[in-house]
Amino acid sequence: MFIERDVNSHKKQGSIEVVTGSMFSGKTEELIRRLKRAKFAKQKVEIFKPAIDVRYSQTEVVSHDENAIRSTPVDNSSNILMLSADVAVVGIDEAQFFDKGLVDVVVKLANMGIRVIVAGLDMDFKGAPFGPMPGIMAVADHVTKVHAICVRCGSIAQFSHRFSEKEQVVLLGEKDVYEPLCRNCYLKTQKEPLPPDSYRDSPKGR
Ligand code: ZN
Repeated sequence: MFIERDVNSHKKQGSIEVVTGSMFSGKTEELIRRLKRAKFAKQKVEIFKPAIDVRYSQTEVVSHDENAIRSTPVDNSSNILMLSADVAVVGIDEAQFFDKGLVDVVVKLANMGIRVIVAGLDMDFKGAPFGPMPGIMAVADHVTKVHAICVRCGSIAQFSHRFSEKEQVVLLGEKDVYEPLCRNCYLKTQKEPLPPDSYRDSPKGR
């Protein structure tokens, strides 16, 4: 279990924290919560997001509940290193859209004594590990998986199902394009045979 450390107890001790899960799981809200607490502690915080993610705002990390915090859009993970001199905490949102070089970047930042907090999707809409996220989760000190609620049955959801037929992995969008689903409901959308047991208690219909 992740326990937020006392910011004054380990001066200049770097670390890597990951907050991950499906769409609508509250990843960005949790990232913002941790970053705001660092700011309350008067720590210098820098927040980055991929330049590709311009759904709402060019310069703010915006979660679905409009709890915004200023951020810098960057094209390339190496830019984060250049822009992080003399900061205490680096936040990275939508990390799945960055290049795989982000794994080395977060390690370098942590080795420089920086607390790095990374938020991103663990899986793409096909259920495959997404971009640099599996590598970052491997090198992280702490990984927090947050979950959405399945819109079809109310179970805990970890899949981001896309209704759109488009094949590209990067398709930005919101509730018009994606829905959070549990494993059973997700598998039904994939038209793959389920093991017999999983049908037993599921409600009829969807
Ligand atoms: Zn479900």
